[in-house]
Amino acid sequence: MRDLYEVLGVGRDASADDIKKAYRKLARRHHPDVNPGNPDAPKRFREIQEAYAVLSDTDKRAQYDQFGTVDEGGAPRQPNVRWSPPQSGGGFEFGGFTDLGDIFGNLFGGFGKGGRAPAEAPLEVGVQLEFVQAVRGTSVVVPVRREVACSQCGGNGNFQGRVCPRCHGSGMLVQTDRLRVKLPAGVGDGDRVRASLKDGSHREVAVVVKVRPHAFFERKGDDIYTVVPLTFPEAYLGAEVEVGTIHGPVRAKIPAGTQSGQRFRLRGKGVRNVRTGANGDHYYTVQVTVPRVVSPAGRDASRRVSDLYAGVGDPRAGLPRSLD
Ligand SMILES: [Zn+2]
Repeated sequence: MRDLYEVLGVGRDASADDIKKAYRKLARRHHPDVNPGNPDAPKRFREIQEAYAVLSDTDKRAQYDQFGTVDEGGAPRQPNVRWSPPQSGGGFEFGGFTDLGDIFGNLFGGFGKGGRAPAEAPLEVGVQLEFVQAVRGTSVVVPVRREVACSQCGGNGNFQGRVCPRCHGSGMLVQTDRLRVKLPAGVGDGDRVRASLKDGSHREVAVVVKVRPHAFFERKGDDIYTVVPLTFPEAYLGAEVEVGTIHGPVRAKIPAGTQSGQRFRLRGKGVRNVRTGANGDHYYTVQVTVPRVVSPAGRDASRRVSDLYAGVGDPRAGLPRSLD
């Protein structure tokens, strides 16, 4: 077992106040919520709590100083707070907190004597959406973790003259509320949607949205971009082709003489703008494809196609040949 003073990083002559300060600083740094990827964090946090439970209690500290150990049941009870990893389900995944500094800036620091309420910094929680959920809008349930005054000691860290067994003297507990938030159709990557807790505190929560990209539909703002392959005859003679959009398939006219790489617009077939309600546009870029397999008949046909370029000349004429 490590030396308890060493655990808290204080000298043996540290005052009760020094010990409390050291504890709060360490607890803030090693809190499992602040170190979600670190499997050792809960153990380290517990170690800090255990050291504090002894050293903040005058009797236990004296006993520890004299015998190097504390009897009466050994280690203090585990804190009544459960740390769970971000949950997933319902077709979306929680991205977890996005700005820990903001969320935990006040953690452990907000409770003085008498259990003051925590500072009203907005809580922030991240949510990851599938592309279609963002386009059509969805409702998500996000876990909002926040500090609350310990219910046993009312936030002052002591209970009946001893270190509070529930919060181990920190005066606070972390509580998770499940908050249902409606995300409007058209919500985009990086958007912050505001909501508030329904527990009477009306505490403001910022839901930071991340949207998973789609394999086919590329989104830029409210506009959608896709690539539509064409055959040579379709591009040369013109055609009517089906273009898939987020609103369903659209029949689109390809004019005769269309070039590969040419871009067309379908007005209003993009994503709904969250603020104005107006739809963005859908841009599709055509790409002329050629058959990969060369056949004798194809060789013959392409010779005749080459003749079509006779009047056009060299398509690469006029291109720069180098930097010089
Ligand atoms: Zn307490």
